[in-house]
Parts: sequence; C-alpha cells; structure tokens
Amino acid sequence: MSGSFDAVVVGAGFAGVAAATSLAEEGARVLVLETRQRPGGRATSWVDPATGEVEDNGQHVLASFYAETLRLLRRLGTEEALTADRTFHLRLWERGRGSFQLRCPDLPAPFHWVAAVGTCDRLSARSRLRALDLPRQVRALFERNGDGSRFTVESWLREIGGTEDLAAVLRPIALASLNETPREGSAGLFARVLDRVFQAPARASGLALPRRGLTDLLHGFEGFLAARGGEVRYRTTVLGVRVEAGRAAGLSLLGGARIDSGCVVLAVPHDRAGWMLEPEHFGAYHGITRAPWSPIVSTLNVYDRPILPSRFVGLLGTRTQWALDRGQAATGGYRVGTVRSAAFEDEDRPADSILDETTRELAEAFPEAREARLLRARVYKERHATMRSLPELQPLRPPAETPARGLFLAGDWTATGLPPTIEGAVLSGHRAAALASAVLGTAAR
Ligand SMILES: Cc1cc2nc3c(=O)[nH]c(=O)nc-3n(C[C@H](O)[C@H](O)[C@H](O)COP(=O)(O)OP(=O)(O)OC[C@H]3O[C@@H](n4cnc5c(N)ncnc54)[C@H](O)[C@@H]3O)c2cc1C
Repeated sequence: MSGSFDAVVVGAGFAGVAAATSLAEEGARVLVLETRQRPGGRATSWVDPATGEVEDNGQHVLASFYAETLRLLRRLGTEEALTADRTFHLRLWERGRGSFQLRCPDLPAPFHWVAAVGTCDRLSARSRLRALDLPRQVRALFERNGDGSRFTVESWLREIGGTEDLAAVLRPIALASLNETPREGSAGLFARVLDRVFQAPARASGLALPRRGLTDLLHGFEGFLAARGGEVRYRTTVLGVRVEAGRAAGLSLLGGARIDSGCVVLAVPHDRAGWMLEPEHFGAYHGITRAPWSPIVSTLNVYDRPILPSRFVGLLGTRTQWALDRGQAATGGYRVGTVRSAAFEDEDRPADSILDETTRELAEAFPEAREARLLRARVYKERHATMRSLPELQPLRPPAETPARGLFLAGDWTATGLPPTIEGAVLSGHRAAALASAVLGTAAR
C-alpha cells in the first residue's frame, strides 16, 4: 500500500534523489524505494570501518556548469560538500613531451576559451586556429545533424579538419566525459560537453570534486523528504511496475508486497528498467534496455607526501588517464585518485597488476612521486559504470514520459542530450518530477 504518499520514486541514485526532492519541494509526499542501504547509486561513498576513511566507489569529477546538480545541492543545503576550481584549468602531462595546460582566465565567454587556446603551447599555430573555430563547428554539428548521431568523435574531428595535436588534446577530454573511446564515442554527445564549456561564464567553468565523499553531496536527503511527509525505504527491491488500463497502478516488491500508486518515477539503470516494465511501456525505445555497459577502473594511492602539481592532471600516452588530488587521508598521508575510463582492457586484469602499473606511471609523470613512499593503494572496478556512449544508441534514449499515464523514467541513460553523468542523471530526475508534478497537480498547491 502507498498509504499517504502521492508518488513513488524507485531508485535513490542522483536521478531518484533529484526527482524525489523536487517533487517534495512542490508539496508532494514522496516514498522512495531503494534496494541498497544508502543513496547515491553509482556515485556513492561509505566509511571504511577498518581505517575510518571515506571511500568513493570510483573517482568522480563534477563541474561548476553542472547547473542542475548545483540546484539539487542548494535544495539539500550541501553545496559546501563540493569544492570547485575558480575557472577551467586542466594541466596535462604527455609521455615523451612533458607538461602543458589549458587554462581559462576569468574573461567573458568565449574569450576565456580564446585565451586558453592561445596560451596552450602543445598546439601549433594551425591547431590553435582550428581550436578557436571549435565553438562554431559545434553549433554547425547541431544544426546540420541534430544530435550528431552519425559521427564518432574521431570521424567528426577528421571531418572538421582537426589537426593531430588538437586531437591529442581533445581525446582525453572526450574519453573522460563520455566514458567511451573517441574512436567509437558519439560526437554529438561530446559536442554537448564542449558547448557547455564554451557557453559557461569563466567563473562557472571550473572542475569540482567532492570535498570528502560523494554521499556527502546527498546528506540530509532522508530528512528533507521526512519533513515534507515523505519516506525513504532502503533494502527494498522493486521487481516490477504494474500498469493497468494504460495508467501506472503500483509496484511489486521482492518478498511479495505490493504498493499502489498512480504516480511512479522509475529511476533505475536502463537494464533494470527493462526487467521491471513490459516492452510496450517503452514505446519505440525498448532497444535501449539491452544497451551495453562501459567500465571504469579507479585507484586510490596514499603517499607520505603530496605528489601532484594541481588538483586535476590528465595523463596522455599512459594507461592511467587522470590523477586527482583527493587531499589528506584521515589516517595520515595524501590521497591520489586515478581514473581509467572505457577500461575494457583492465576490467578483468588482476588488481595488483593495475596498481603496479599506475604507481609506475605516476612516478614517471610526477617527480615528487619518485621520492614519495606509497603507504597503501586500492583498486575499484565498476564494470557497469555507464551505458556506452555510442552514436547508434542516442536515438534510442527515451524521454521521461512513457505511454502509461503517471509513469515516468529518469536516469543518466534517458534522453537528456548529455553523456551519462551525474548532471544528466539530475537533469532527468528534475524533468520527470516536473511531469509528475503536473499530473499530481502539486505545482499548483
Ligand atoms: C566509477 C565511476 C566514475 C564516474 N565518474 C563520473 C564523473 O567523473 N562525473 C560524472 O558526472 N559522472 C560520473 N560517473 C557516472 C555517474 O556516476 C552516473 O551517471 C550517475 O551516478 C547515474 O545516476 P542514476 O541515478 O541515473 O543511476 P544509479 O546511480 O545507477 O541509480 C539507480 C538506483 O536504483 C537502484 N535500484 C536498482 N534496481 C533497483 C530495484 N530493483 N529496486 C530498488 N532500487 C533499485 C540502485 O541501487 C541505484 O541506487 C561515474 C560512474 C562510475 C561508476
């Protein structure tokens, strides 16, 4: 039974939390059902009982232009849990070449990008001209090709006459933002990311990291709902959504219980949604439920001293792609997170071999790491990190509205126009909530 609840949200990842809190803000009493014991889904953290250390399930980078995410954090009062660079500043190190950077000064858009390109000494004069033309090329891609679904990142860069050194700078950004190889990743999705960097005012272009752990970003979520007549039930697994006579009717739970509700937001990953709904409830989009996943492998190395020259460093020519300064460890030492996106070759590799390689590569890139003592290190493998960002999957991403009245979809895999990210997840949750709110009439309360 749904008792006194107006709406039920399934899943307490960023999409579900965004949907539930947005609905509650509009006056709805919301019940959230989550199979795990904490919120955050694929972006979560916990306290390791042995060390007292906050551990993320993998390194996550956010950005000041994550407008929907910032809206969610303001709602929950957790903006302080995120720490952002003042403006976009990417330091990169390339095997055989050394360091260079892309740094946007505090100038109005698009001059911040012009200045960043102008001062990037990895780029030849010809490549700088090409880079300055990128904002126009991004717009042209949207106009000519809708979501750009035909092109991969590599084929688009070739099409616009991109030089090899411009591609060398853009590839790691594409790989990280799509969790997909540039050879296979959707140019349309990458163009959306670039467009955001180009459009954002310099002061809203900086990259951001959780100060402590990812779950701090959602701190107070349960209290927020409870104060508005809602409830979060963890360790509660939904098996199926019931639809009767074309309308949402409720949910069936593991263990046999049923919950009745005429307003359901399904905020679970794409494959889970495929188990819970009949194909006809996806309309033309059912194919998405079989979309493949892309893995991410992260490590956390703890050294006896700081080793990084800045908070974010991209690594080119090595298997380790990013190194992130995660600050001091509670038990002593300095934490360095590393990331390997689209880590198809590493997902089945033994953890020790990944750690040896990562430690060697960090020592190669950062002189301080050669002197430093490695206190401990750990590998995190997320095989199902994000749905693959392939061009052919983009037209299959469904909107929030389904053919069943009162049933809405949310999640990073839905048609947000963004790569599968926290920002995409939160945007989808807000969209689903706006539609559900209209059905409930809560917006008018
Ligand atoms: C290692 C890693 C690194 C990443 N790095 C970045 C990054 O740097 N920047 C970025 O923006 N994004 C990053 N992402 C992607 C980001 O984490 C996801 O896009 C986002 O968290 C997805 O949120 P979601 O709410 O759509 O889905 P999920 O987080 O998957 O939430 C779905 C929720 O539904 C619950 N659920 C599933 N089945 C059921 C059921 N039957 N009953 C009840 N509940 C159920 C799940 O337990 C989960 O809590 C990364 C992801 C990973 C794994």
